[in-house]
Amino acid sequence: MIQDISPKIYHNEFKDARPADHDFILVFHKNTVLVRYQDGKLRYPVLTELKAYSLTYHYLFSIDNYKYFLACFPCVPAGNAGENPPAVTLPGYTYEDVRIFRTADSRHTAFAGITAHHLFGWYQSNRFCGRCGREMTADHRERMLFCPGCRNMVYPRISPAVIVGIVNGDKILMSKYAGRPYTNYALIAGFTEIGESAEQTVQREVMEEVGLKVKNIRYYKSQPWAFSGSLLMGFFCDLDGSDEITLDADELSEAAWFHRDEINLEDDHISLTREMIIKFKEGVW
Ligand SMILES: [Zn+2]
Repeated sequence: MIQDISPKIYHNEFKDARPADHDFILVFHKNTVLVRYQDGKLRYPVLTELKAYSLTYHYLFSIDNYKYFLACFPCVPAGNAGENPPAVTLPGYTYEDVRIFRTADSRHTAFAGITAHHLFGWYQSNRFCGRCGREMTADHRERMLFCPGCRNMVYPRISPAVIVGIVNGDKILMSKYAGRPYTNYALIAGFTEIGESAEQTVQREVMEEVGLKVKNIRYYKSQPWAFSGSLLMGFFCDLDGSDEITLDADELSEAAWFHRDEINLEDDHISLTREMIIKFKEGVW
């Protein structure tokens, strides 16, 4: 899966660090990232290449001994956020849609990029206090933004969500999303609501999206999925009662039962959804 970057090691411990000349700098502009390609592999700029700009930086994480930082810019005037051009341009670099991180090489560089983008979104959305409107400051001991006015503390936001493999004997339910760029078959998925357990999310989402009851809910694995700011939790469960599908056409374009032998997808080594489908196909679940 996307987070499996072995033998590289992702170090997530917070550090109050400043970038050195050859540390990697992630520069985002909306949903794009500043990159260049070297021998077909993604490269991010290092600090020395950005010396002409007066930027501030947040330490993000390290992979092995390489540190990654986020470049921060002055505030964009209200109302103009959509039209502003990128604040940074570098020769040889282009801004690419962050969806390249699903397939780009190297795997650890792509994982660093999408994880950084999740943090970028959080920093960008919390420049000002939601309670009193003052400018937030970054804490020096942990990843937290602090309001010097009302002492409001804001921690990184992760949205829990479930992926559900509904099993009916030798068949599994696969579906396609309505109105999304991802057009392959997937499993039922949805965000956990406030006040419910992950198992209750499974039952509610399955009922809402395909009108089915499920039982024997069993946990499989989880995965950080920064594309949607989520922690995905995968569950298999068994159909309970009628197998007649009632489709929620706002969420899904189609949903159907597939026998193990009818599944013609390969593991993409990226998504938990795909791994679960492949495990079922191989008869493991
Ligand atoms: Zn405040």
